[in-house]
Amino acid sequence: MDDITAEVGFGANEDILPYTESKEIITYSNAIDIVLSSACRNQCGFCHFSRRKADLVVPYSTIKLFKAVRKMGAREANLISGERPDRYHVIRAKFDIWGFNSYAEYIYTIAELAFLEGLLVNLNVGYLSYNELKYLQEIVSTVEIPLENINKDFLQTSGIFAQAPSKDPEIRIKLLESAGKLNIPVLTSVLLGVGESPEDRIMTLVKIKELQEEYGNIQSVKINLAHTSPEWAGDPFPALGEEVLLETIRLARELLPEDVDITVPVNQYSNLIELIEHGVNDLGQIRNYDKDYLFPEKPYKTVGEYQQILEASGYRLFKRLPIKNSFIVSQKYSKKLGQFLDKYKMRLKETSKEDKFVLTL
Ligand code: SF4
Repeated sequence: MDDITAEVGFGANEDILPYTESKEIITYSNAIDIVLSSACRNQCGFCHFSRRKADLVVPYSTIKLFKAVRKMGAREANLISGERPDRYHVIRAKFDIWGFNSYAEYIYTIAELAFLEGLLVNLNVGYLSYNELKYLQEIVSTVEIPLENINKDFLQTSGIFAQAPSKDPEIRIKLLESAGKLNIPVLTSVLLGVGESPEDRIMTLVKIKELQEEYGNIQSVKINLAHTSPEWAGDPFPALGEEVLLETIRLARELLPEDVDITVPVNQYSNLIELIEHGVNDLGQIRNYDKDYLFPEKPYKTVGEYQQILEASGYRLFKRLPIKNSFIVSQKYSKKLGQFLDKYKMRLKETSKEDKFVLTL
């Protein structure tokens, strides 16, 4: 394998800045989305993603794109899929023709192609078994596991997950626990605006806090405002004002430990400063390479535009690595990821043993 660290090492504009003591520092990850498949076994009432067709990305078609976006500054490949597309025989037949024994092998191959081009991989594909997570953690740096809402009674009566059995909170919590046991950094989320009660939001945030206290692998929590799916047969969700979003962000910041980032899908809101003042400290994945796959009518601003907005209010925006410093310093990553991360680990260790600094790239 080529020495990819030579290509991605520290350059003139890479530095380490004080982080937790500098509240004016806001971070983001420069990411490219790759939709592996929009086929999904579920049908959630807020879904704007699943297309009910058996599409599947051809692994080698991604190389050119990974190479191009890496040159333009991307550090992260966000691999997205509906849940378990491998339940469809058309998709399993394609795996077979392409020589993959399983869905996990297919994901591994695309993740490795991204990694070889100097991108760290976030996986956002829904349910995976413990063994699949274990296998994929060699090449994947972070995994997205939305918790949404832990009130099982509410979810049963509201019907939004009536056709999504794997969204059962017990299954989601088990998945988060599996990632915790494996020390895989996780991005999770809380879903607002589906008729849940304020207590549901608090209980969900408290559960995330407990998971973080037990496993320490929650990297960030996204506060999401749901929009009714175009395919949802029930009544549209009741409109929820942005004040509920802001209040939940404030609560999340209050409840969750400092080392857990609070983020929102920034392309969906206009008042960025208000979000930050309530507790958002990370803009998450900014995707400037293609349309937003969920809400194409709401494109992300450019990094320069976000920078201008923030600077006008006294904040500074920095690009970060997709994986947090604490995970890098603790070296809870595979040997393979070490080809990329060891260099950063050494640099961080020279500076501090704690996660009080942000790597700016
Ligand atoms: S699990 Fe639900 S939200 Fe995710 S892609 Fe499938 S239907 Fe959409």
